[in-house]
Amino acid sequence: MRAGKQANYSYKFKLYPTKEQKQFLKRAVGSVRFVYNYMLARAKEEYQKEGKKWNVYEYKKLLPLLKEEYPFLKESPSQSLQEAVFNLDKAFKNFFAGRSDFPAFKKKEHGGSFYLPPGFKIERINQKWGLLWLPKLKEPIKVRLHRDIEGDIAAINVRLTPAGSFYLTVRVYKEIQKLKPVDRICAIDVGLKHFATICYSDGYSEKVENPKYLVKTEKRVAKEQRKLSRKQKGSKNYEKQRLKVAKLHEKVKNQREDFLHKLSRRIVSENQAIVLEDLNVKSLFSGNLSRHIQDSSWRKFFEYLSYKALWYGRDLIFADRFYPSSKTCHVCGYKNQELKLSDREWVCPVCGTRHDRDINAGKNLLLYGFAHLTSGRVGPTRAYACGGAKGSVEAGSSCREAGSSSFQ
Ligand SMILES: [Zn+2]
Repeated sequence: MRAGKQANYSYKFKLYPTKEQKQFLKRAVGSVRFVYNYMLARAKEEYQKEGKKWNVYEYKKLLPLLKEEYPFLKESPSQSLQEAVFNLDKAFKNFFAGRSDFPAFKKKEHGGSFYLPPGFKIERINQKWGLLWLPKLKEPIKVRLHRDIEGDIAAINVRLTPAGSFYLTVRVYKEIQKLKPVDRICAIDVGLKHFATICYSDGYSEKVENPKYLVKTEKRVAKEQRKLSRKQKGSKNYEKQRLKVAKLHEKVKNQREDFLHKLSRRIVSENQAIVLEDLNVKSLFSGNLSRHIQDSSWRKFFEYLSYKALWYGRDLIFADRFYPSSKTCHVCGYKNQELKLSDREWVCPVCGTRHDRDINAGKNLLLYGFAHLTSGRVGPTRAYACGGAKGSVEAGSSCREAGSSSFQ
């Protein structure tokens, strides 16, 4: 452990517990949830009836009493239970600062996680596998250890997904080597037809599609979700179908993260500066579900690009939200005010150039980037934070899954 330094990197490993170990882990997740919900119920009542504000110290003092009343809580590490109180504290702080809604109760079907206090040991047994030793367990849990853990471990936690899988997240602090400078920059235009159009300063451009396997799994999720909505809530069949949907959701999430990590990694390694557009402008149109999924995908992509650029010493340039990248002819600068969203191609009436909508937008972003670089205003103008919210965060530091190496 290194005091005072924030974790900047995290590894994600899948756990393969035995039936007995699963029970132990589920109990720990359940106990953390129990403490969280118990304290929340109490705090909510005090707040609604007496207007009394949450006080973390008061509630921390409740913990030993709670353990006396509910002895099953003693089976889980006490620091994990304390962490539940701190998490609730964060939720209340966000609420009182106006950053989020009143804290919500945690639901069993959403899974959950718990923090592992020091005393664990991770041991590699061969190229593929490792063992996780926990003080309260006699036998170690099998871990798919696809990479070695480098750096000082800052925190480690176990997550139970809604689909019933367990993952180990190891957050570390490690020195990251900056990459050698390259003399190429690129601009990225995200679109509905293709996931992204990338234009490079050497004249090359490419259209990146959502991978076929991802699109296929997404379609399956939608199909199984429809089936779920027709089932009686609370019935055995409903529960079976819910689990099926949850497993598919997990698959989609993993596949998408894998795709976005690979793409962002490639872009950052091959370009010295990356020009991005303002996503909030794109968010203005249409509100259907597939758009929503696409939107969260772009945000995640920008977030990955942001912290990787910071790690490896690349520049991010965000175009001004009023910069008309689609409407402007990148050759002569004419502005096509009549351009509609459905127009995939257009011909510039002034210089006669035939434009592909996305490539033209990308080339304009590239011009924006050059103007920015020559004016000396370089550097990451802002970073994308986790969860789609934007703000200036220290790259990676607040991203729980930041750089989860299983997908890099
Ligand atoms: Zn023109």
